[in-house]
Amino acid sequence: MRVLILGATGGLGSALARSLKGHELFLAARSQGALWALAEEVGGKPLPVQLEDELEVQALMEEVDGVDLLLHAVGRAGRAPVRELGRDLLEGMLLSHLLTAALVLKHVRFRPGARAVFFGAYPAYVRVPGFAAYAAAKAALEAYLETARKELRREGVHLVVVRLPAVATGLWAPLGGPPKGALAPMEAAKRVLEGVLREPPPETLEL
Ligand code: NAP
Repeated sequence: MRVLILGATGGLGSALARSLKGHELFLAARSQGALWALAEEVGGKPLPVQLEDELEVQALMEEVDGVDLLLHAVGRAGRAPVRELGRDLLEGMLLSHLLTAALVLKHVRFRPGARAVFFGAYPAYVRVPGFAAYAAAKAALEAYLETARKELRREGVHLVVVRLPAVATGLWAPLGGPPKGALAPMEAAKRVLEGVLREPPPETLEL
């Protein structure tokens, strides 16, 4: 399989890359050093990119060309009560979860029968005090993808939304670390791949 992992330097992205070792891997994120180290470890091609920049996304997709599997493991987390919410936090959430996904779907080139995987969250877990911006970004992402799925189906592309429970990754660093009982990233990656590669592909996978 020809696989593009976006957010490859992250906790989930790097676990997905390790689990897919042996496939033709394209690894994308912003942090160059981490990308090069991972590419050496798993045998993929490192592709530094700022996914909030449309020209960079376009250039990335031209370089990668067709993919069988796209994994969008991109995002950030942050906490603020609604009475103290800064514009930067809300904009940052929408840019990193929604805009990156929209730009990727605009420019990515799929091979026939490809799958495109995005990561959502259980509404009940994230619609809690302090997480309005994160919860809103994930809800917007899911709404965007539900519509995109109907368009992409005509191209023979399957779009999968994976709702994850807590996974012990760096996403939690600004929040003081992952909660007790968070899944190990390699275990999460294993469950993600088992679910999204099954026949027929699911539309929503809840882990
Ligand atoms: P993570 O460890 O923080 O990784 C996030 C990745 O996104 C990093 O590789 C980061 O790399 C990349 N990234 C962020 N902004 C980017 C940008 N503008 N351009 C390019 N790359 C960018 O997070 P994770 O836990 O693996 O999360 C992966 C996905 O799962 C996210 O969508 C997250 O919301 C979702 N999710 C996670 C959990 C959880 O508990 N961990 C639960 C539910 C859903 P660079 O900094 O190198 O660019």
